[in-house]
Amino acid sequence: MNTTPPDPSAPQGIFTPELLDRCISCGFCLPACPTYALTKDEASSPRGRITLMRALEEGTLPDNDLRLQEESSFCLGCRACETVCPAGVEYGALLEEWRDHQWQGSRRPLVVRLLTFAVNARPRVWLLGLFRRHARTRPSPEGPHLMLGCFERALYPKVSRAARALLPELSAPASQGCCGALHAHNGDSARGRELALELGEQLPGVIVTTSGGCAAHLASVLGRDRVREISETLTETPRELPWTGARIALQDSCHLRNGLGVWREPRELIGRMGEYVELPSAGSCCGAAGSYAMVRPKDSRKVLDAKLDEIEAAGVDYVAVVNPGCYRQLDQGLRRRKSRVRAVHLAELAAGAYETTRSARTQAEH
Ligand code: SF4
Ligand code: SF4
Repeated sequence: MNTTPPDPSAPQGIFTPELLDRCISCGFCLPACPTYALTKDEASSPRGRITLMRALEEGTLPDNDLRLQEESSFCLGCRACETVCPAGVEYGALLEEWRDHQWQGSRRPLVVRLLTFAVNARPRVWLLGLFRRHARTRPSPEGPHLMLGCFERALYPKVSRAARALLPELSAPASQGCCGALHAHNGDSARGRELALELGEQLPGVIVTTSGGCAAHLASVLGRDRVREISETLTETPRELPWTGARIALQDSCHLRNGLGVWREPRELIGRMGEYVELPSAGSCCGAAGSYAMVRPKDSRKVLDAKLDEIEAAGVDYVAVVNPGCYRQLDQGLRRRKSRVRAVHLAELAAGAYETTRSARTQAEH
């Protein structure tokens, strides 16, 4: 019988060593981090959080240390730190490993447990959209398919209708499940991976999505060649979009921009429909961050308020979004302020413009 007590200084096996060792503590990431901007506290920066992860891995901080719990949840998971890191630290992957360990059992926020339960099985996801008028077609044996999303089909069913109006070749079976991004970003990356693989089987061929966060997660599991975000597909398919004359800004999806490197395509599309206005913080998180707005509403509002000030000062008519979380966050924030600016999904904007051209042409022909 082995009576040797556990060595607290031995690696705990929580993190992949090559990921954790890569940080050289240079601090280049600090100015890019929205939570560090709020607090100016090292612990709320990417470098500070990696130091905490190392302490956890080395056993010098126990699992139930309050700073570990606080910082694992205060981080938005926006991955802005990755884009400026000279050492190629994959912070998003580290955060997933951290939360897989940190957010076990009752330490996982209750709202996260409820949300992941709601989308954990296909029939529950189907029920979410049962009374909503989202796009619905028969499955196609080869694709391409439109991903309906889990909460997107319930909250913004018009987005999938707009996507199908633009790309009628996409099939959109209502029986499809969730992609697993919510699980992967919230302490259950194994289930997140399983759900992505299951969705890949349910939707053979190329999957087009209207959610930047889902696109990045799906691509990380199924491979980049199976997944297209809708602005990529639309820029690849020449489509006549009329000039609307509107001034339009964009809120990037963090994971689409920082994870998949897709940021030119939505700007190009907007530039074909109206006057594109670049917000100074377009590439910075709006505070939605998946479940963050529900887990940490006060911090989420702090991040959002600065963004809304910027949008209103830009004098735009619309702020376009490419992710349902950002849609909800900006739409609610602008309405609360009674702003004249409207949040709109890029697919809706393009479908509206496309429909205007089509009806004008039909009228001219008669
Ligand atoms: S994460 Fe990258 S940028 Fe930040 S301190 Fe570490 S090496 Fe430097
Ligand atoms: S993911 Fe975003 S909030 Fe978290 S450490 Fe990186 S930049 Fe900061």
